[in-house]
Amino acid sequence: MNATAPGFAELVPPADPRTGWTLPDLGQMPVVTSLEPLVTRVLAPNPSGMTLDGTNTYLVGEPASGQAVLVDPGPDDPVHLDSVREALADRDARCVAILVTHHHRDHAEAALPWAAHFGTPVCASAPAVAGPRGRVLAPGERLRLAGTTIDVVPTPGHTADHLAFRIESGAVLAGDHVLGRGTSVVTHPEGDLEAYLDSLRRVHDLGPSALYPGHGPELTQNPIAVLDFYRAHREFREEQILALLSNRAQPVSALVEVIYAAVPRALWPAAEQSTRAALAKLEGQGRIHVAQDGAWLVG
Ligand SMILES: [Zn+2]
Repeated sequence: MNATAPGFAELVPPADPRTGWTLPDLGQMPVVTSLEPLVTRVLAPNPSGMTLDGTNTYLVGEPASGQAVLVDPGPDDPVHLDSVREALADRDARCVAILVTHHHRDHAEAALPWAAHFGTPVCASAPAVAGPRGRVLAPGERLRLAGTTIDVVPTPGHTADHLAFRIESGAVLAGDHVLGRGTSVVTHPEGDLEAYLDSLRRVHDLGPSALYPGHGPELTQNPIAVLDFYRAHREFREEQILALLSNRAQPVSALVEVIYAAVPRALWPAAEQSTRAALAKLEGQGRIHVAQDGAWLVG
C-alpha cells in the first residue's frame, strides 16, 4: 500500500464550471435553434441516457451562399429529416455536403441515405462512413464549402475515427468529444484515453469561441473552462482507480460499482468502457498490472 496516496474517500472531484451557467434542463432544448449566422442546430428525436436530449445535427454555411453543410445527420428518422429540410428552407439553403464526426449510429446512420436524398457526398474520416462515393477527410485539412471554411480537427479518443470541425467564427463542432452535459465516454477497446487527452489539448489550443457538442446544449460562456474540467475529470477517475487498487486487487466490475455508485445502472456498461480505457492507460504507464483472475493491482 502506498502510504502517501490519498484514500478513495478523500479524493475531491473537480467542479464542473457549467453548474453555474444558465443551460436548458435535460429535455428542454428546442428542436431548431439559430446559434450564430453560420450555424443552425436541429435536434433529433432520439433522447436516451447515452444521447441526452438527442443528437444535435448542425447546418453550417454563409447565410448569403444559398448553401449549407450538414454535420452529423444523426438517426435516419423521417421526422428528423423533415425538421432538417425545414431548417434548410428557412436558411434558403440547399445541402451541399454531409460531414460526420464519427461512425456511431446516433451520428452517422442517416449519412448515406440522406446523401442519396440530397444528392451530396458524405465526408468522414472512416471510409465505411464516407461510402463509395464519399470523401475521406484528412486530419488538418481545410474545407471550403457553403461560402465558408471548415477545418478538420482530429479528435480520436471517444472513437478512433473521431473528428471535430472548427468553423470560421472560431466555434468548434465537437461531436462526442465534449458533450453539453456531463462527460463523454472513452470507448474500449476502440477508444484510447491517451489519444482522448491529446485531443482535449488540441481543441483547447484552438481557443474555441464556443463548443457545439453532439449532444446537449451549446457551450458558449467559457468553453476553455469546460475543456479544463474534462481533463481534470479524467485525472480524478485515474486517481480513484489507483486509490481503490492500492491495497487490494479488484476486477473492473468492482471498480465500476464503487466509482459509479451514484450513476444509474443503465450507464454502467459505458462507465465500464471508460474504466477499461483508464486501466489500459495506467497499465501502459507501468502503474498497475493484472494480479490474478483479471483483477488489477497497483504496481
Ligand atoms: Zn453520440
